[in-house]
Amino acid sequence: MDFQKFCSSSVLSRRNFLRSASVASAAVALPSFAHAQAAAAQAAASGGSPRPRRNPDDWEIPREAPGTVIISSNENPLGPSASALAAITKYAPTGGRYDREHSGATLKVISEEFGLKKGYVRLYPGSGGPLDLALMSNIGPDKPLVHGDPTYEQGPRAAVTMKAKAIPVALDKKTWKYDVKGMLAAHPSPGAYYIVNPNNPTGTITPKEDIVWLVNNKPAGSVVIVDEAYHHFSNQESVIDLVAQDKDVIVLRTFSKIYGMAGIRAGFAFGRPDLLAKFETITASDRQIGSISLVSAAAAHASLTDKDLVPLRRKINRDTLDDTLAFLEKHNYKYIPGAQANMFMVDVNRPGREVQAAMLQEKVAIGRVWPALPTYVRVTVGTPSEMKSFQTAFLKVMSGPSEPTAAHLEMLDHIPHELYRA
Ligand code: PLP
Repeated sequence: MDFQKFCSSSVLSRRNFLRSASVASAAVALPSFAHAQAAAAQAAASGGSPRPRRNPDDWEIPREAPGTVIISSNENPLGPSASALAAITKYAPTGGRYDREHSGATLKVISEEFGLKKGYVRLYPGSGGPLDLALMSNIGPDKPLVHGDPTYEQGPRAAVTMKAKAIPVALDKKTWKYDVKGMLAAHPSPGAYYIVNPNNPTGTITPKEDIVWLVNNKPAGSVVIVDEAYHHFSNQESVIDLVAQDKDVIVLRTFSKIYGMAGIRAGFAFGRPDLLAKFETITASDRQIGSISLVSAAAAHASLTDKDLVPLRRKINRDTLDDTLAFLEKHNYKYIPGAQANMFMVDVNRPGREVQAAMLQEKVAIGRVWPALPTYVRVTVGTPSEMKSFQTAFLKVMSGPSEPTAAHLEMLDHIPHELYRA
């Protein structure tokens, strides 16, 4: 099965997938670890990722044991700020009316911050929706997508949907930054280049000058899509100024990460008005996807104008990340250096899924494995106490062979992850 078929088959729910004729023979019993490994190997062979599915609409999915520490979805354990919560409480009673105030006020604040003219930024319920629109409105059967490897799966998935070729370009193995020269050389006329900065899953940074170089050297007719979902955790400069300069650049930002509003849903797409207008070639009207709730917009506005929030949370994340990396070093575990986000990747020297399942048995849900780095697992930075639970469980799991139960292996497909509804 190639990546495209693998992806389209996993659009089905797990139960439907199991019922489908193509896997009928494997569906007699719960899928074995060997089966899961085979699927991962198939996907890996074709450059794709195994596709964990967790449809939050499905009330029958198995849940992790009560009390399990969830550090698998790059969420923020601190949740919304006090200022966001106060705004939600204050404005929820006005929610019987359509919003006439908060979205506009939020767009004004962010436009002023980056010197953007009107019409260069839109507010959405999260950034995943507009990310799809940015990708899909620029790629297609004759317009490939060039992306990093490993990267956030939404890029290659959009390529599957649009029947566009997805061209993975490995991250630089010394610095773990995007290889922008390799990306440029990968195809003479792609529709889009997708850069996640800091990258998900490695948490590593691509210097701004590399992105500027790609923007200045890329072929005409293509766009550079920069996903800054984790930007606030880093000490890097944004590339939103390239949007203000009318370059072929679309930038995505979210309130799901440092602002702790993953379930509340708010995010931005920045781009030249003509690039944003192209979104409507994918969705009939921005209103369908872009209709952010009044309370989410009010919470977004309160978060943006809370000047202490980002520096404080960046420091909290950095301190906990540094403590955890010091723990890994003390015990001689190899990890990908240079992470500047709320995640890191550690080498477990065996198939990552085994460790993921064994950790779940210890009631710690850690993140998934990418085919490009099959012995690494991604771990989200939780609270200090959650990371203590991680350390205890990790030492136990790593001290012997992982022998996860079939039930825990089955649960891997249901571990919470950030590809929410994707
Ligand atoms: N982009 C990246 C790199 C992500 O990791 C995520 C979610 O984790 C998203 C986009 C989408 O996030 P949301 O839709 O919650 O804004």
